[in-house]
Amino acid sequence: MRLTVIGCAGSFPGPDSPASCYLLEADHEGRTWRILLDLGNGALGTLQRFIDPLGVDAVLLSHLHPDHCMDLCGFYVMRSYHPNGAAPPIPVWGPAGTAEQLAAAYGLEDMPGMRATFDFRRYPDAPAGQIGPFSFTATEVVHPVPAYALRVSVGEKVLTFSGDSGPCPALVEAARDADLFLAEASFREVDDNPPDLHLTGRQAGETATAAGARHLVLTHIPAWFDVDTAEDEARAAYDGPLDRARSGAVFDL
Ligand SMILES: [Zn+2]
Ligand SMILES: [Zn+2]
Repeated sequence: MRLTVIGCAGSFPGPDSPASCYLLEADHEGRTWRILLDLGNGALGTLQRFIDPLGVDAVLLSHLHPDHCMDLCGFYVMRSYHPNGAAPPIPVWGPAGTAEQLAAAYGLEDMPGMRATFDFRRYPDAPAGQIGPFSFTATEVVHPVPAYALRVSVGEKVLTFSGDSGPCPALVEAARDADLFLAEASFREVDDNPPDLHLTGRQAGETATAAGARHLVLTHIPAWFDVDTAEDEARAAYDGPLDRARSGAVFDL
């Protein structure tokens, strides 16, 4: 499985990266399968540097904050009104209310909303699924809105994406023995942070250590903070291989 970081900026697009979006690719039955974890603001533009977005097989949303889902509005336009004809619907997994919230964001009636373009599926009904070679499970984590960590495997290889989450046992379990743990690090230890919202760099490191994750990649660091701070904090709590996400970075696992 190959991970390409499309967007890794936290909470809003930054000068060097769109908001949350990760491309996963794997070969299976004679072709390359492609799924997206999140499609946050700005990501659809950058995605086009790497692939034709019409070749995406499915989208998994971690939650419905705009920095994780808002470019589905642009993706809806691209798929629905393409001069070569409307593209067939693809599955979009998300929390309860995904179809309704995106319809509202675009100013569409609830029904049909975007249902002719996206085959919406809800984690509360389908917390696990299969897309070509990708198996996934979604685990609810702590955040002000329903939010999920996504654990994706191809064969023996496992990638876990925290989505947005405060520290919690569910996130540790989702990242258990992962080959790569893509963990948000939105907060800093020096600040008086609200509970159950985001991880600090240190908490990302502690979560990776508790989970036995084999490689930690820090992401979702807002442009108003220094990435060095998150990395220094995480290194103090995790002694395995550690990287910071940047737009365009590729990780093979
Ligand atoms: Zn976020
Ligand atoms: Zn969020």
